[in-house]
Amino acid sequence: MTDGGMAPVSDPLPFDGPAPLGPTGRPMPVLPEPTPLTEHGGARVVAMCNQKGGVGKTTTTINLGASLAEFGRKVLLVDFDPQGSLSVGLGLNPHEMDFTVYNLLMERDVALEEVVVPSGVPGMDLLPSNIDLSAAEVQLVHEVAREQTLQRVLQPALAEYDVILIDCQPSLGLLTVNALTASDGVIVPLECEYFALRGVALLKTTIDKVRERLNPKLEIDGVLGTMFDGRTLHSREVMERLVQAWGDKVFHTVIRRTVKFSDSTVAGEPITTYASSSAGADSYRQLAKEVLARWRDG
Ligand code: ADP
Ligand code: MG
Repeated sequence: MTDGGMAPVSDPLPFDGPAPLGPTGRPMPVLPEPTPLTEHGGARVVAMCNQKGGVGKTTTTINLGASLAEFGRKVLLVDFDPQGSLSVGLGLNPHEMDFTVYNLLMERDVALEEVVVPSGVPGMDLLPSNIDLSAAEVQLVHEVAREQTLQRVLQPALAEYDVILIDCQPSLGLLTVNALTASDGVIVPLECEYFALRGVALLKTTIDKVRERLNPKLEIDGVLGTMFDGRTLHSREVMERLVQAWGDKVFHTVIRRTVKFSDSTVAGEPITTYASSSAGADSYRQLAKEVLARWRDG
């Protein structure tokens, strides 16, 4: 900034170093273009997790998945919330599902390929859910290895897909523990507002317990700031506190607040196809590059 002008609002702090500051207040790295894959399989399983509702879990599952599919990854999305928002957000009717994740979890004779449906996005499939899944939370309590049920039923998908994203429900109950037990990584979407920081300690404790007792490989892949508004001091302060608390775990990519996300949900498709050249679509493509870089280097 040599002309003495105002810094742009999205660039809150003055910085004289080589890389410009990103929205998290840290220098923005150059994210490499994802390398094309010549074969598929060896899926990384990732749970989208935060016990608070309305923070962008489902939106992130759909749009990160669609962006990874654009980069040539074979993606499976798992709707693991009885509210079925992921399924509805991809245009499915909750009353017109032959089989759902509930059948896969509870009925031994139902196979994965009977439940998988196309998502409408090339390269991305979906395991749908509806309200039936709420019964599984109760019924699973009586099962042997009840925390490992999802892990067991996803086993056949690992060889076929590159990435499996599990959209968790807003609680830390048995379904979420199943998702964490089945996963290699967790992504925590956090709304950029002050109260979002509450409850995160409990989530971290739950992740630590699952790692200690059930799934030693479980990592936190990253914390994603959502519904960010770079014009408000408030959003920027929350971001600063996020970085203080989580350090490098915070993704450099942040997702700004825009009504295009609810519009695309109504349309039943990802923002990457509904408004392909929008800023929201670009943010999720950038997030896809960032997670691929982390998974490769991690
Ligand atoms: P969760 O799955 O954590 O409950 P959702 O992804 O369903 O959260 O998001 C909650 C609501 O906020 C939805 O109506 C969604 O369309 C909207 N939303 C999600 N991300 C954004 C964003 N970046 N900007 C504006 N609205 C958003
Ligand atoms: Mg949701």
